[in-house]
Amino acid sequence: TDFEDFYLRRELLMGIFEAGFEKPSPVQEEAIPIALMGRDIIARAKNGTGKTAAFIIPMLEKIDTSVDSIQALILVPTRELALQTANVCKTLGKHINGLKVMSSFGGTSLKDDIMRLNDPIHVIVATPGRVLDLASRNIADFSKCPFFIMDEADKLLSREFTKTIEDLLVFFPKDRQIMLFSATFPLAVKSFMDKHLTKPYEINL
Ligand code: AMP
Repeated sequence: TDFEDFYLRRELLMGIFEAGFEKPSPVQEEAIPIALMGRDIIARAKNGTGKTAAFIIPMLEKIDTSVDSIQALILVPTRELALQTANVCKTLGKHINGLKVMSSFGGTSLKDDIMRLNDPIHVIVATPGRVLDLASRNIADFSKCPFFIMDEADKLLSREFTKTIEDLLVFFPKDRQIMLFSATFPLAVKSFMDKHLTKPYEINL
């Protein structure tokens, strides 16, 4: 398989090739076409497999930058991962006109986040507590946000984060697409999947 086989828009393909990716990694080969069909996905994938681009590429394909609304939330367990993942979005989406990506996490000024959200933002990469705060205060509107993505879901769901994440999901439309990536599948991840994902396609590499 080549990246051309996914029929991605040219702007996105340019970003992928400029990032130095020549061929999809196994997790990308499996996840990208399924995600493009709109299905929920649960993938067991470790760091270093190309999992980040496996969810970012189909998400970026569907972002409409002519619409000023949040269209994807990527939840991550740490601020380092939030910054890193936001950078991957910016790199791969470099040629998508007007694409706005922001990262948001606790320990920084809420006012700064509020200010940044005054402008159109299409993708938010965030830790759960801060983004629930933004959603609860009506600062971030997820009511039309089609993508709910969780990276390192085992870490996200291992702390007291589970309730935070479930509270956050309530702000999303009923037909949101959930993509959950995790290195391991503890009970907390399995329960979350059974409760919130719709006929998830399972990837086990
Ligand atoms: P990840 O598993 O998402 O942390 O990615 C691990 C590394 O692989 C990162 O440095 C990516 O930039 C790189 N990478 C991801 N997909 C590809 C690909 N298709 N071809 C070459 N490198 C890739």
